[in-house]
Amino acid sequence: MTEPLICQNYIDGEWLSAASVDTLESRNPALNSELVATFPRSAAIDVDAAVAAARKAYRTWRLVPAPARAEYIFRVGELLVKYKEELAQLMSREMGKPLKEARGDVQEGIDCAFYSAGEGRRLFGQTTPSEMPNKFAMTVRMPIGVCALITPWNFPVAIPCWKIMPALVCGNTVILKPAEDTPACATKLIQIFQEAGLPKGVINLVHGLGEEAGKPLVEHPDVDLVSFTGSSETGAFVGATCGRTHKRVCLEMGGKNAQIVMEDADLELALDGAVWGAFGTSGQRCTATSRLILHRDIKEKFTAMLKERTSKLRLGAGTDPNTDVGPLVNASQLQRVSKYLEIAHQEGAKVLMGGEIAHEEQFQQGYFFRPTILDVTPQMRVAREEIFGPVVTLIEVNSFEEAIAILNDTPYGLSSSIYTRDINRAFVAMRDLEAGITYINGPTIGAEVHLPFGGVKQTGNGHREAGTAVLDVFTEWKTVYVDFSGSLQRAQIDNREAEL
Ligand code: ADP
Repeated sequence: MTEPLICQNYIDGEWLSAASVDTLESRNPALNSELVATFPRSAAIDVDAAVAAARKAYRTWRLVPAPARAEYIFRVGELLVKYKEELAQLMSREMGKPLKEARGDVQEGIDCAFYSAGEGRRLFGQTTPSEMPNKFAMTVRMPIGVCALITPWNFPVAIPCWKIMPALVCGNTVILKPAEDTPACATKLIQIFQEAGLPKGVINLVHGLGEEAGKPLVEHPDVDLVSFTGSSETGAFVGATCGRTHKRVCLEMGGKNAQIVMEDADLELALDGAVWGAFGTSGQRCTATSRLILHRDIKEKFTAMLKERTSKLRLGAGTDPNTDVGPLVNASQLQRVSKYLEIAHQEGAKVLMGGEIAHEEQFQQGYFFRPTILDVTPQMRVAREEIFGPVVTLIEVNSFEEAIAILNDTPYGLSSSIYTRDINRAFVAMRDLEAGITYINGPTIGAEVHLPFGGVKQTGNGHREAGTAVLDVFTEWKTVYVDFSGSLQRAQIDNREAEL
């Protein structure tokens, strides 16, 4: 067994304990006896130190030319390549996802590094003619300042990278408050930023519980921006606090993503997508397929195919190369999924497969829930609320129009998918599905870093991560006018004098 990692906070270029001597534990969700890491139980006083360091570093970091800032991020990308396997192994042990998915998670960080680094030589603004003679007009992107980045455990490398990298290239300084389930991944990631040589205070790490370390960060008067990915409940608190304290805020919250399978679809292809979308990362992705909306003509056949394929999925530890579906991340997630199964029973949903905790000997020390298929009606809670586990609900529809209406009948709007061979229907779906992301003949998961990521309705608050869209989160526009006429020129007035 590997020695547990002793994680610390990283503040102003130093690895430090929290002011409190209390520490918390991160354990392997597949094997509870294995302690993966201990980490500091930080509080407001530690947050204060991190914010002060970030504020001080901001004074100089914002003046470092963007291409030079980006070179640090490029180096982080190279180091992530070097440490990819080590990080992936750690991630599998710490939060349970199968190794190949953990490698994908790190790869997303690498992709984000190289993409963000390229942005250092773009960060384009606009130039446009002035309405006055001898006057020049342009826009430039300005950094925001000190950014608090609060992240979940389901993509413990990719999501922090998505936030940290563009934030730094844009000239901000950051404080990362990672999820309490993945402190070791966050620590290794920040060690990589340190190894890349980032100046002290530019990047800071504060471990701890949401209520004790996250909350004071969100409330801190010297934080200018909060970027949050997590639950809708916490997102509501973050949004309200930032509204009250006039901070810029970017929120990525819940989803209830659906895949439509029409009667003309390639069913084998739709099956591959459904299984990967529903059970990848044990359903613990914001973009996981939680609903399968099936045309009545293919429902019976497709359901049989789905049951057959799902029955072959191998449950196990993420570190075992034979595993298809890993454990849930912690006991409360296991309880949450179990609670939804009780609700499903009470509401009369039919459990077609799974529906229970895996009790065999080899699963006793972990949080294993069997891949589950539920036959439901659209009004049931399991068809409407985010479960965040290996549970997929099947909903029958009679028509394409009904399929679209049901997919849209949710307060969320992150990812959506349709399998059809009909090009006209595909284009109608692209137009009418209410979601930030729509896949045609692909599953609801599979975001690429150079395209915008985010959701409509209650999934987000109108911002997008990744792509060039994220620059609108981490910069503020400044409009600059340069008058080289040598005289006062009054816009809208002096150039209209002749009309009088
Ligand atoms: P999940 O249910 O996925 O754990 P949370 O929204 O609880 O989602 O957690 C996402 C992140 O938000 C974690 O880093 C967590 O510590 C943090 N967090 C939780 N509560 C708060 C809070 N009140 N203020 C700020 N951050 C919080």
